[in-house]
Amino acid sequence: MMNDNENTNHKICRKCLIAAQAEAVDLAAEMDRFLAMLKPEDMAGDDLFSKRISICKDCSYLLGATCNACGCYVEFRANVKHSNCPKKKW
Ligand code: SF4
Repeated sequence: MMNDNENTNHKICRKCLIAAQAEAVDLAAEMDRFLAMLKPEDMAGDDLFSKRISICKDCSYLLGATCNACGCYVEFRANVKHSNCPKKKW
């Protein structure tokens, strides 16, 4: 009897994993979950967060909600008080 790993006739679509993940992951909910793990004293305040995000919005490294320089979600990075931009823009 063959298990899944031995089934060499099984073809995998190159986009199936990403498509399945995009459907399964609600990014806003994921962000809320990440932010809930931060202590209040470790969070950037509203002014600092807004200043950082406005810089990210004009940055050529921004790809969707992700920083293409480091791979993180910029909203999460900008919410962490002692975080910084990998390109030293903030
Ligand atoms: S964190 Fe820095 S490099 Fe990344 S998108 Fe924001 S400004 Fe650009």
